[in-house]
Amino acid sequence: MKKYSPQTRHVHADRLINKPEQGGVHQSTSNSVLFDFEAVEELEAVFQGKIPGHVYSRSSSPSIVGLQNILCEMESGVASTCFSTGMAAISAVFFSLLRSGDHVIVSRYLFGNTRSFMDALGNFGICVTYVDTTDANMVKNAIRQETKLFFCESIANPGTQVADLVAIGEICHQHNVLFVLDNTMTPSVMLDSKSVKAHLNITSLTKYIAGHGNVLGGVVTDLGTFDWRTFQNISAKYKVSDVSLWGMTQIRKRGLRDIGATLAPASAHPIAIGLETLSMRMQTASQNALALAEFMAEDKRFVSVNYPGLSRHPQHDLAKQLFCGRYGAILSFCLDETIDFRRYLNNLSLVLRATHLGDTRTLALPVASTIFYENGPQKRNEMGIKDNLVRISVGIEDIHDLIDDFTQAFENIE
Ligand SMILES: *Cc1c(COP(=O)(O)O)cnc(C)c1O
Repeated sequence: MKKYSPQTRHVHADRLINKPEQGGVHQSTSNSVLFDFEAVEELEAVFQGKIPGHVYSRSSSPSIVGLQNILCEMESGVASTCFSTGMAAISAVFFSLLRSGDHVIVSRYLFGNTRSFMDALGNFGICVTYVDTTDANMVKNAIRQETKLFFCESIANPGTQVADLVAIGEICHQHNVLFVLDNTMTPSVMLDSKSVKAHLNITSLTKYIAGHGNVLGGVVTDLGTFDWRTFQNISAKYKVSDVSLWGMTQIRKRGLRDIGATLAPASAHPIAIGLETLSMRMQTASQNALALAEFMAEDKRFVSVNYPGLSRHPQHDLAKQLFCGRYGAILSFCLDETIDFRRYLNNLSLVLRATHLGDTRTLALPVASTIFYENGPQKRNEMGIKDNLVRISVGIEDIHDLIDDFTQAFENIE
């Protein structure tokens, strides 16, 4: 598979990697929760991890393993584990790898639900330091003896801050801190997480990978770049397989078997179908986002437009270097305060007023009063989120139709 480009690999992955029965091109959906064995010795060996197999579908099933094989190959990782949602993947990593007394460093610019999850970690005795990840020195200065893990997103939602991933990866490497990267905004067709020395990749499959707003899912991939022998929190019980799999074994046992945040087998198929067109959708949506951001930047009624593809974006050069000449499909803006942004959004006729992102359709959302509402004014201020900030998740419609819609929405409100 390696010799093909990503687009080609995505289209043929299921067929070539999983070899579905009778020449099928899609892995079939497994309906069984339980699995029968000819001999009880075999059942015991699968339970003990001595031979591969399935015992109960909360822990694994053929459909999910098929999807994991594709996702792992896509990231060139050593192992991937799917979860019911992106949030389940994030919480499984934190709850399975950390203990009370540990310290973690986390980006100040986070997806709202991830931020509220991080804020709750104090209840479990895990100390969190929030840093501005556009400045790698902030990460370096926050490292302590008890620091186990660093977590950030590649392009932050909704402010579009780009983390200084290369410098941060180097710092984590030098200090042997586990670098966990949420690359939901920049799937592997945009960012090679290994090139920035990330150790674990977390992706919400709900967003760009599945892409059509019809299925939830999350995945954690171990990129094979971390030496698990140096991680104090791996239980002796899970140091059974090859060293490269110690971390993922613990994440699976605790995140799936013990917590139960399992992806439904029937969800694997729509996610795999979405992946087949990921490159094309990402390309079109990124091109549309750039054109839309340039259009908005020209119009004084948009007082600020955040998009890494604009040359005046503070991390434009970094983004250019990191993301293969694309800048993603999320942008955000504030309208001039004399314009009622709610009336403006209500006037949009094609664009949906909806939460979610990474969809084929273009979506608009005022973020302070919705996904960041619970975080309160002080945290929103720290995260750079103004009351009238609007996030746009740009879809794959014809760009002219999008520009027309954002233009006509000003009528009758000024
Ligand atoms: C949506 C999102 C998540 C959570 O994913 P779900 O599948 O909705 O649980 C995590 N991180 C980022 C950056 C996201 O955009």
